[in-house]
Amino acid sequence: MAEAKQAGIKKIAAAKTMRKLMADHFYELDRAMKEGHPKVAWCTSVGPAELLRALGFVVYFPENHGAMLGATRVATETIPAANAVGYSPDICSYLTSDVGAFLQGRTPLSDAYEGITSIPKPDVLVYNTNQCREVQDWFAWYGRHWSRPVLGIECYRGVGEVTDVHVAGIAGQFEALVEPLAEISGEKFDIDRLREAVRLSRECSDLWKEVLETATAKPSPLTFFDSTIHMAPAVVMRGTQTALDYYHELLPELKQRIADGVAAVEGERLRLYWEGMPIWGRLRDLATQFLELQTCVVASTYANSWIFTALDAADPFKSMARAYTELFIVRSDPAKERYIQEMIETFSMDGIIFHDAKTCPSNTNCRYGMAERIQERLGVPSITIAGDLNDLRCYSDEQARTQIEAFVEQLV
Ligand code: SF4
Repeated sequence: MAEAKQAGIKKIAAAKTMRKLMADHFYELDRAMKEGHPKVAWCTSVGPAELLRALGFVVYFPENHGAMLGATRVATETIPAANAVGYSPDICSYLTSDVGAFLQGRTPLSDAYEGITSIPKPDVLVYNTNQCREVQDWFAWYGRHWSRPVLGIECYRGVGEVTDVHVAGIAGQFEALVEPLAEISGEKFDIDRLREAVRLSRECSDLWKEVLETATAKPSPLTFFDSTIHMAPAVVMRGTQTALDYYHELLPELKQRIADGVAAVEGERLRLYWEGMPIWGRLRDLATQFLELQTCVVASTYANSWIFTALDAADPFKSMARAYTELFIVRSDPAKERYIQEMIETFSMDGIIFHDAKTCPSNTNCRYGMAERIQERLGVPSITIAGDLNDLRCYSDEQARTQIEAFVEQLV
C-alpha cells in the first residue's frame, strides 16, 4: 500500500483522486456560471441537493467554501469585513468569513484552481434551516446582493422522536419547491430523475458510513482529522455517481489497512470522540498532537452528519424529509445523548472532546450539562475546548494543548 509519511500523519492514497474530483467540481461550477448553463443552485450542506440535481442544476455548497476559508486561515482576515457591514463577530464564522471574503474580492478557489477568479454566482439559493437559522441569513445576503431568489425549508428543531407529522410537514415543503425551482432551471420535473438522485445519495451515504465504521477496528485505520477531508464528496457530490466511485476507491484502501494492521495513529493507546465542529485552521496541529500522544480521535458527530439512512428512492419526498429531520443537529438533547452513547459503545471510546464553538451554538452541545450527564450515566469522561470553526481569535493554542495533554494523562 502506498503510504507516505509527513509529520507522522499517514497519507491516504485516495486523497489524490479526491483532489482531482474537487477540481472538476469547481471547474464545472465555474463553467456553468460563465456559460449560463446549466443553472447554478447554492445549497446548504444538509439541504435538498437531490431535488436540485433532479432538476438539472449544478450545486454549490457555501459551507464547503467556508471550511476552505477556515482551513487556509484566510477567515481571520476576512471576518472583519463582514463585521463592518453589520454582521456581528458573534454569529456563524462561516457566514462572516465567506461574506467578508466576497466583500474583499478573495476566495481560496483562485489560489487552488487556475482561471477561477470568484465563487460561482447563483441562479437560485436554497437553504434548509434544519442545521441553523444562520444559513437563511447567509443566503439572504447574497440573494439581495445579486437579486436572486432565495427559497428554502423551515425545519423543526429540538426534535425527540421523528414522527409522521414532522415528516409530512417537511415533505410538503420539499414538494412546494418543485414548481419554482423547475421554472428557474428551465427543466421539467421528472420523478424518476429524483428517484435516481435519491438512490445515488443513499448509496453514497451507505458507503460513507462504511468508511467511518472502519474506525471501529483496533487500531483504527483513520482519524477524525482524515474524515474531515474525505467527507468532501459525501457533502458536495452526493446524488452523483462520482461520489460513489470515490468511496469505492477509499473503502478498500482502509480495509487493506485493517488487514495489514496499519494504524492511523501508531501505538494507539486511547480512542476519543470529537463532538462539535472541527477547528479548521488547526486540524494539522491537533492531528499531530494526538499522534504524539498515541491517541486516536476515531469518530465524530460532524463527519457522521452526512449519513442519511432514511433516504429511499421508492418514496423520495417523504424519505428526504425524514432523512433531513433525523439529523443529530435537529434533535433534542435526550436523542443526542442516546446517539452519543451508541457511538461510545460502537467505537469503544475512552473519552469525549466537546468543542464549544463560539460562533456556532447550533452545533455545540456542551452548554446545557450534556457532558456531565454522560459522565454520570455512562462514566465516560470529557473535556470542553473553547474555540471556533473559523475564527481563531476564539481559540488558544496553548490552553487547548495543555487541556488535551492533561486529559490524556488522566485517561491512560
Ligand atoms: S451549523 Fe453552525 S457553522 Fe454551520 S452554518 Fe450553522 S451556525 Fe454556521
